[in-house]
Amino acid sequence: MRIILIGPPGAGKGTQCQKLVEHLRVPHLSTGEMLRAAVRAGTPEGVQAAASMEQGQLVPDPIILGMVTKRLEAADCRDGCLLDGFPRTLPQAATLDELLERQAMSVDGVIELAVPRDELVRRMLARKRADDNPEIFAKRIASFEVQTAPLLDYYHRQGKLASVDGLGTADEIFERVQAALERFARDRHVRARQGRRDPPWPEV
Ligand code: AMP
Repeated sequence: MRIILIGPPGAGKGTQCQKLVEHLRVPHLSTGEMLRAAVRAGTPEGVQAAASMEQGQLVPDPIILGMVTKRLEAADCRDGCLLDGFPRTLPQAATLDELLERQAMSVDGVIELAVPRDELVRRMLARKRADDNPEIFAKRIASFEVQTAPLLDYYHRQGKLASVDGLGTADEIFERVQAALERFARDRHVRARQGRRDPPWPEV
């Protein structure tokens, strides 16, 4: 299965991703992790990305798309993957659809981890990660609301969005995630029976 997990900073994506990859037995493709590895290794992409990341801004598309394309074409992604942190903008989503289409593949489903903004701020204040400076955190939330939230409508119109309540224990949330996976599997079956891989893609 090819699944995308979308959620604002602090929604608990990391925990749910870990559970999802164990459950689905597919590779976990986190652009945030790829970028942090590139920064640590001091590659040209890492050096270029670091400035945007420190400011809570998105890294330019050429860097992101280069990394993701290479990773998605690897053999271990043939039977599925979990995309985490990508796509984050409508152009990235459109590029992903084209990329998969070229390989006769598609996204099976998109899970939104929905958490209200005041709860995100409360969690951020409680956990204190190095990049959890309140000002930067506010920028990351704003970037989510302006650039990433429109993806929810994009995937909703493709009939692929499942919104999951992100409040509760990790296990409670994962039960909701599993219910979404079951729906995606049923939808895929219906599409295959009807002889179509996907509903028509809306314009962006
Ligand atoms: P994450 O671990 O997903 O929160 O990502 C950490 C940071 O990496 C983000 O705040 C962005 O600066 C950058 N980043 C990760 N994924 C993307 C993406 N798909 N497009 C642009 N920037 C990204």
